[in-house]
Amino acid sequence: MVIIVGVLELQGGFSLHHSIFQKIGILSIPVKSSSDLKKIDGLVIPGGESTTISLLINTYKMYEPILEFGKTNPIMGTCAGLILMAKIIDDVRVKPLGLLNIEVERNAFGRQIQSSKELVKYNLGLKEKLALSTTFIRAPKIKSVGDGIKILGEFHGSPIAVFDGIHLGLTFHPELDSIDIFHKILFDKNCQFYFKKLKRIYAA
Ligand code: GLN
Repeated sequence: MVIIVGVLELQGGFSLHHSIFQKIGILSIPVKSSSDLKKIDGLVIPGGESTTISLLINTYKMYEPILEFGKTNPIMGTCAGLILMAKIIDDVRVKPLGLLNIEVERNAFGRQIQSSKELVKYNLGLKEKLALSTTFIRAPKIKSVGDGIKILGEFHGSPIAVFDGIHLGLTFHPELDSIDIFHKILFDKNCQFYFKKLKRIYAA
């Protein structure tokens, strides 16, 4: 089976996600309407402005179709994408998809972390934690996580990478540092051992 991943292209930083998929040899296509969801096996909701993306999701009648798609298919959200995937959001202008059982606060870190690059160690099911360059841009804060959510990485005591077995949420932008491990874990059939290992590790 050929895996085709869609990148939601309503607003925001979608193009570098295509570059990552090209780098790891996965076909990726733009998703601009609900009919595009029928062509894909997984979806990326990119960073951008979550209020705008939410408005456009509603305008283009994509809210229910994305929810339906997410019941059985992997979805990754980066930054604004993670905000949209959350269950509870501190801004009424964003209609939560509720795909990830987390509560988030938009723009929670104030000026000094509005944009910053850090080295963070992630638990990705490998023997040792993996240190990865991590770029935050007006990042949201994950204030709490509910049942079924596993934390893959933390920064200053807050979760920044969360996974529920099928949905992955990142408060940062791996695509800006050409980091492909998260895309591989979620979408690359050849790397599904990571995925399975993570599931096993986190099943307990
Ligand atoms: N602050 C933005 C929002 O709340 C997210 C920023 C980003 O995606 N880099 O939508």
